[in-house]
Amino acid sequence: MSNLGSVGGFQSGFFAKKIKREECQYPQFLICQHNCKHVIQLISNVSGEPEFELCEIEAEKMAKVLLQAIDKK
Ligand SMILES: [Zn+2]
Repeated sequence: MSNLGSVGGFQSGFFAKKIKREECQYPQFLICQHNCKHVIQLISNVSGEPEFELCEIEAEKMAKVLLQAIDKK
């Protein structure tokens, strides 16, 4: 089992990582009213720093929004 926790990779220079909420880098900016236990981080391949964090529910919502947007002509 890998402890990297990577859940995907983008050619855009980011990879996504699932972390525990306590490990969240910017808890003050986290949009979450569901008490999610995990947070998804988008980490820059260039800097290695988390650029974006959102809870697992919001991450799933955003993924659906993005997929819908792609389908729209
Ligand atoms: Zn949440």
